[in-house]
Parts: sequence; structure tokens; C-alpha cells
Amino acid sequence: MEAEQSLLERCDLWACIQCGKCTGGCPMSFKTELNIRRLIYQALLDGGVNADGMDELWDCTACGTCVLRCPKEVGPSDLIVALRTTLVDGGVIPPTIRDALTSVFRHGNPSLMPPDERADWAEALGVKDISEGADVLYFVGCIPSYDDRAQKVAKSLVKVLQKADVDFGILGVEEKCCCNEVRLVGEEGLFGYMVEEQRELFESKGVQHIITTSPHCFNTFKNEYEGLNLKVQHYTEFVAELIEQGKLTFTGELNQVITYHDPCFLGKQNGVFDEPRDIIKSIPGVEFREMDRIRDRSLCCEGGGGRMWWEGTNPEEQLATARFEEVLSVGADVMAVACPFCLLTFELAAKAGGYDEKVQVLDIMELVARAI
Ligand code: SF4
Ligand code: SF4
Repeated sequence: MEAEQSLLERCDLWACIQCGKCTGGCPMSFKTELNIRRLIYQALLDGGVNADGMDELWDCTACGTCVLRCPKEVGPSDLIVALRTTLVDGGVIPPTIRDALTSVFRHGNPSLMPPDERADWAEALGVKDISEGADVLYFVGCIPSYDDRAQKVAKSLVKVLQKADVDFGILGVEEKCCCNEVRLVGEEGLFGYMVEEQRELFESKGVQHIITTSPHCFNTFKNEYEGLNLKVQHYTEFVAELIEQGKLTFTGELNQVITYHDPCFLGKQNGVFDEPRDIIKSIPGVEFREMDRIRDRSLCCEGGGGRMWWEGTNPEEQLATARFEEVLSVGADVMAVACPFCLLTFELAAKAGGYDEKVQVLDIMELVARAI
């Protein structure tokens, strides 16, 4: 009973009027057992939620749609994080998620990759270590540090920053996971430990301004790291400013029809809608077209909230597949993204669904790097 009270207190569910707008907007409610309205009902009135055996709790992508749709500012997805926390605390956790968490603790990344190879992608690019002093810390993130495909995004951003003469550095092998997904799968203890470690690291390097590749790192530094008094920007915000100030100019052009997919952690959760579009539209030769579901109505790619670590995902059934039909319906040949999770999830879905010959998935920085 004590645990249940603290759960209710933490989630402030009492304002809920059971209107169902949260479940109506939830992208996962159409394809899984997840029903956030019903969970809230159970938590409040039906004797409490027993999370044991509720596999659907791992289906939540933490997209934030339910939070946006709720007319009473309940913050429905907090309940899922709280319920996941009870499962994690009790040791009831899917094996692949447990392995990712163990890897974060031991190696500083969720993919069992060697920490001393974290900055290999930057070899020969002339990127300095932040210890040498720099105006801006480029926080690369786990996926762009280790994944071959996402490394191309990090390299493109480096090219762009160098072209604009930005004084920036990276943490190199000292960089560790930002832990956005660690918090969202309910591992609060590990999240707290890592936050403390990163805060001390940033302080020791004299960091005042961070730009991130990933909206997930951006979100957690901006909203979840208590006491982190630094300027935090997603790269789209920073690069849009460079273009606007005339510090980054284009020398080439891209004659392509491009549409843009809003990542949940950049758009819905942090309101960054215009800057990515401004960048794409500023590239000479580009014809920009919008899909139907955009900005705060954007479809979730299904990669967030620990879903990347969840082995139950079938690429052919992912929401990403539906997204390609929208891309084709507006006649775009490129779907631009601004998130490593979206990039990998969409590429996997494109291959699984046979869309890869019709639509290219490219990060905005890859597009910019091709035109400078
Ligand atoms: S949208 Fe808000 S008020 Fe409506 S059922 Fe969901 S949590 Fe309750
Ligand atoms: S955060 Fe997204 S996936 Fe999770 S319950 Fe809310 S709407 Fe559904």
C-alpha cells in the first residue's frame, strides 16, 4: 500500500477525468495491449496496478503524445516509468534491457562496446579534445559514436562545424551515455549515479555550452539533469543559427524533393519544430514538402523509451512502416530525420518493408554536408 501511495503521489493522477484522450493518441495502443487510460483507472480506483507480468509496459516508446493530449496535465506516461521502476527494483526486467543497463554501468554505453573505441570515428578529422578548451562541447552520443551508419551523421556535423569555424571539442573516450533511456526504463539508481558523474565531468572540463546529435541526449541534459546550468542545444538549433547569422553558407545544391519527420524528443517534447525545417529549406535546389502528420501530431518511429533494447520489436510491424506510405504520398524521395534513433529505426523498417529503393532516409546534417 505504501509503494502504491508513493506511485500515485509521484504521478499526480488524481486530476484524471478518464476522458481517454491519452489512449486515443497513443501510437502503441493500436498494436499492443498498452492502454494508458485503463492503467490510470486501475492505479486510482481498481485496487492498484500490479505490474508483474504486464509485458505491455515495455511497449511504451515514451513518445510524449499522451502528455500533450491530456487536458488535465496529468502526465500519463510518468505512471509507466513509475511502474517500470517497480519492476526494475524487483529484478523483473526483460533480458535485453537488463543487458543494456549493465553495459551502461560497466562500459558507459548500452551496446557492450569498448569505451576506449568511443572516439575512433573522429580519427583523422582534426577534432580537438574539449580538455584543450573550446567554446562548445559537441556531445556525440552512444549510437553516433559506435554505429557505422550513425557515425556518418557525426562526421557530417563535424564537417559543418569546421566549415563555419566553430570552436568546438569532444569528450573523446571520456564521453558516456546520457542515460535518457536508462531513466525511462525505470533504472532511477543508475540514472542518478550517471548524472552525478557527467555533471562532475562537464564541470572539470569547464563546459558552458553543449550541442548534441541526439534529441534524446538534448532532452535529458535540458530537462532531467538537476543543477546542470549550461546552455544545451540540439544541433538543428545551433546550425539554424549559423545559417541565419551568415556563418554557414552553401556552395552546392541538392535537386531533391525532401520531407521531414519530427522526432518525438525534439518536437513533441521540446517544441523544436521550425529550426530543422529552416535548415532544409535553406539548402539550394531543395523542394520541401510536408506530410500530413507533422509537428506535434507527428508519428512516433517507435525507437524511444528503451524500445531500441527490446527484443520483441518486429521491424515489419513497426509504426515506421506506415510513415513511408506518407512519404510516398507527398512525392518525396528523401525523408530527412534529426535523430539517430529515427535514422536506424526507419532504415531497418525501409529494408523490411521494401521501401529502401523508393525512399532515402538521411539525417539533416548529411544533407547540409553535401551542399557546403
Ligand atoms: S487524457 Fe488525461 S484526463 Fe484524459 S484519461 Fe488520459 S490522463 Fe486522464
Ligand atoms: S508515451 Fe507515447 S507510447 Fe507511451 S503511453 Fe504515452 S502515448 Fe503511448
